[in-house]
Amino acid sequence: TGPVIIVGAGHGGYQVAASLRQAGFSERICLINDEAHLPYQRPPLSKAYIKGSAGPESLMFRPEKFYQDQTIELIAGRATSIDRAARKVHLASGEMLDYGHLVLATGARNRLLDLPNANLPDVKYLRILDDSEALRAIMPSKTRAVIIGAGFIGLEFAATARIKGLEVDVLELAPRVMARAVTAEVSEYFQDRHREAGIRIHLGVQATSIEAEGGKVTGVSLSDGRHLPADLIVVGVGVLPNIELAAEAGLPVAAGIIVDEYLSTADPNISAIGDCALFASPRFGGSLRLESVQNATDHARCLAAKLTGDKKPYDSHPWFWSDQGEDKLQIAGLTTGYDRVVLRGDPAKKAFSAFCYHGDKLLGIESINRAGDHMFGRRLQAMNRSITPEQAADESFDLKSALA
Ligand code: FAD
Repeated sequence: TGPVIIVGAGHGGYQVAASLRQAGFSERICLINDEAHLPYQRPPLSKAYIKGSAGPESLMFRPEKFYQDQTIELIAGRATSIDRAARKVHLASGEMLDYGHLVLATGARNRLLDLPNANLPDVKYLRILDDSEALRAIMPSKTRAVIIGAGFIGLEFAATARIKGLEVDVLELAPRVMARAVTAEVSEYFQDRHREAGIRIHLGVQATSIEAEGGKVTGVSLSDGRHLPADLIVVGVGVLPNIELAAEAGLPVAAGIIVDEYLSTADPNISAIGDCALFASPRFGGSLRLESVQNATDHARCLAAKLTGDKKPYDSHPWFWSDQGEDKLQIAGLTTGYDRVVLRGDPAKKAFSAFCYHGDKLLGIESINRAGDHMFGRRLQAMNRSITPEQAADESFDLKSALA
């Protein structure tokens, strides 16, 4: 194979390096890291990390010694271009690295709010550890947060900010929260729970301007004419995949770096994984780009297997989670395209699952405080089995019997 150079040391990049060594790969591995930390877990950045006082080391996948022991070269810097003919990656430092195989694990970056004053220090985003640190540091001096975007990250932060005693308003253009990702039943549950916690959720509205005085944010104006006072704004309006490095090297890109079911780009010596990859999925029939830890780490494992002689199409089952206040949402499968939702359990008891069907085909399960249903869903999918909507709705139906 020759040296494997990995661009991006996030969830996917770290995992490729670790899995390659685990599989006995003995050639050079370089992990190019443009963040000033050892590779770390991102999910806590909008959850436990921002709530607590633990230091950055609590987020690291592995201590520095691991990389030394495994001879994984962590290279601080940024890849700026790829010379495909010569099989070289150029770094911003001027350094050049030869690759046998190049892995693009560049992730995604925040979509920025396109409004005047959006670059003031009181307007924050959440993607990297430094963002979470910055928010944690300024929160004690803030009293009123407006969160723009009711996706996972916006709502996770909203719940934490409220627990920390801030007044919290959440703005969302869609008619319900997390509309792209979950069923109406689950959106409604979370809307109710966040409102009970004292968070004001404004649906079907947009921020039209940010007001400030002397460089400090004072409020946000909304598309319906209202004005909300604020001394902190947190923006969670989605991400853009980092595809530029691939595109500039002449590799096909669309809503992600285009790869086949083996995660290979049009150049057989270059693969792309994780948030930046638009991958062909025979199982789901089309191309997918997912943003989850499961997707990045399973891509990484599949690619490491390929590079060590065990080539199989990528075919893992998606799963995801989000912690919001006291509630844990877990999703098994991909629920997009459902035409029927069956509830198991009781939203009023704060524990239920939404089984999503297309016809009689179970697409996925969204579970709230029902970890057992979630694990059941993952095991059922791994066995390529299903249960009927009637069985799902019937609490006396023993889920385990479907796995026997
Ligand atoms: P990333 O982890 O983003 O890593 C990409 C890395 O590449 C970054 O460090 C980036 O700086 C670097 N990079 C980019 N370009 C270059 C370059 N040219 N040279 C060098 N380095 C470069 N998922 C879940 O499943 N559950 C959750 O609860 C959850 N919560 C989340 C909370 C937050 C706040 C965020 C931001 C994400 C969350 N996610 C969650 C999503 C999950 O973290 C991502 O899907 C995952 O990190 C994707 O891994 P990745 O390796 O593709 O990209």
